[in-house]
Amino acid sequence: MTRTPRRTSPSTLFLWCIMTTIAAPAARAAEPVRYSVRFPAPQTHYVEVEARIPAAGQAEVELMMPVWTPGSYLVREYAGKVEDFAAKKPDGSALEWSRSRKNRWKVATAGTDEVVATYRVYGRSMSVQANWIDASFAMLQGAATFMTPADGVARPHEVVVDPAPGWKRSITGLPAAPGGKPHHYVAADYDTLVDSPIYAGDPAVYEFTVDGVPHLLVNEGEGGVWDGPRSAKDVEAIVRAEKAFWGHLPYDRYVFFNILGEAGGGLEHKNSTVLMASRWATRTRPSYLAWLNLVAHEFFHTWNVKRLRPVELGPFDYENEVHTPSLWIAEGITSYYDRLIVRRAGLCSVAEYMAGDPPSAGEDRTINDFERLQTTPGRLVQSLEDSSYDTWIKFYRRDENTANTQVSYYLKGAVVAFLLDAKVRKATDGAKSLDDVMRLAYSRYAGDKGFTTEEFQRTAAEVAGVDLSDFFRRALKTTDELDYAEACDWLGLRFAKDKPEKKPEPGKDEKPAKGWLGLTTKVEDGRLIVSQVRRETPAFDAGFNVGDEILGIGEDRIPAGQWSKRQEAFRPGDKVSVLIARRDRFQRLDVTFAQEPARDWVVDLTPDPTDAQKAHRKAWLGE
Ligand SMILES: [Zn+2]
Repeated sequence: MTRTPRRTSPSTLFLWCIMTTIAAPAARAAEPVRYSVRFPAPQTHYVEVEARIPAAGQAEVELMMPVWTPGSYLVREYAGKVEDFAAKKPDGSALEWSRSRKNRWKVATAGTDEVVATYRVYGRSMSVQANWIDASFAMLQGAATFMTPADGVARPHEVVVDPAPGWKRSITGLPAAPGGKPHHYVAADYDTLVDSPIYAGDPAVYEFTVDGVPHLLVNEGEGGVWDGPRSAKDVEAIVRAEKAFWGHLPYDRYVFFNILGEAGGGLEHKNSTVLMASRWATRTRPSYLAWLNLVAHEFFHTWNVKRLRPVELGPFDYENEVHTPSLWIAEGITSYYDRLIVRRAGLCSVAEYMAGDPPSAGEDRTINDFERLQTTPGRLVQSLEDSSYDTWIKFYRRDENTANTQVSYYLKGAVVAFLLDAKVRKATDGAKSLDDVMRLAYSRYAGDKGFTTEEFQRTAAEVAGVDLSDFFRRALKTTDELDYAEACDWLGLRFAKDKPEKKPEPGKDEKPAKGWLGLTTKVEDGRLIVSQVRRETPAFDAGFNVGDEILGIGEDRIPAGQWSKRQEAFRPGDKVSVLIARRDRFQRLDVTFAQEPARDWVVDLTPDPTDAQKAHRKAWLGE
């Protein structure tokens, strides 16, 4: 029996693995943990888990539940959903157990070779990092479902799924266990189990192969609304485009879980992804484009972050936060490429690509990354690497002041990726691009190795053949404004602010300017409430607070629904006194209306590109 160290830190574990490999190359693989998961009453949102834990020769077995899941950098306390924990011997006799940490259970084995732990997990969170169980289907995430021995020993983990009556299938990225028993899967190790969501239900499944490799699109909840065949055809086009980008498919089989309902979002895994979208999303062009971008994004992670990863992101410590400065590479570069891949796959037009992200909740217009970044006051407060490092306490814990103090590593990361792409293209006279940087980085650092931020930067500089240290220092470590001139010149792009002045046509374009305070409001219980106050606005300067209830301007009451209409009655420069209620006391705030800032950062193709610019665009947008 091998004496196993306690799980102290990933590096200790890593060393231990090397040492045991060297010391005992012929050692027998550790005994597997064997789970069965059942849904005796799925309408109550519970999954029942039985875990059979090898315990031979051990006085105690300590089990742990992750507190977070890779790809989503927030401590989620999965143990909080666990109930009815019990431990027994295989003969059914009870074993003593106690809690040793918020996410650990310690069982006295009393000499048994196998501990049978049972518990149930409540799952009614429609999100890609949590469990959902109801009468129709279950979507289980490994970190939220499976306890494992806390000793850190690498061992297989087997799962047998018992679908509820009426559920025809279980589907997961895990390989089927040898012997071909239905609903029986095996993960080579705990990381693989955590990385392999498990679905059970009765979905619409579309299968296609690319280079002989099978792919499944699993649509849960099509409901006669979602266009399944079309979505499968377009997912296949995205797979082909990304395979062409990277040059290979790094898995034997891939599953797209597409859960259609009220929620949105996606989470990447090594050979699967969980997507959530509205079942109406195939019905309108903007929402369908947003879904295609999501597919391209999560699938791009198959390479970028699941295999080519920042060195800090593996092996995973499931019990503590893991900080890295490089999420701008993992998420920002992926965000840069998601829409670009959709464009290169021919699934959107150049005009749609240039328009930017389709409107999302609370927005009524498309917006490109440049405009969103340049209108976020927090870009001048937080650097890109800080944004990445602090994601656990900032990006994943946003509040009403976030726009003022933070910049998203998705957003600024995507813009920096664009600038880097253009820089490499220009430095190599179009011979190379960021695509080559990603492929070279993959060939060097994919797998267990990981890259440091310096290694990634050196790889980029090597492909560009020029010194990029000043570019990276400014872009990653400072809050200096980014310089778009070089990229725009190379690709023949221009911003609205750079367009030649158009003379207004009398009577047509001469609309009186509207007053603007820069407040974001919401209506709550019929009351008009301030929901966000951005820096660099009249409202911020006048001292409006989030939570203020706006009652009137001057001596006139403003019905909650009339706010935007009433503002139209004012002009830039008008001074007014706004009556508010703050913590149930009346108060007046003096404020001067300003003119809403022009949309300077709307970008388009210059109408008269040079031949060189035309060629550069074609290479970039894949026309
Ligand atoms: Zn992502």
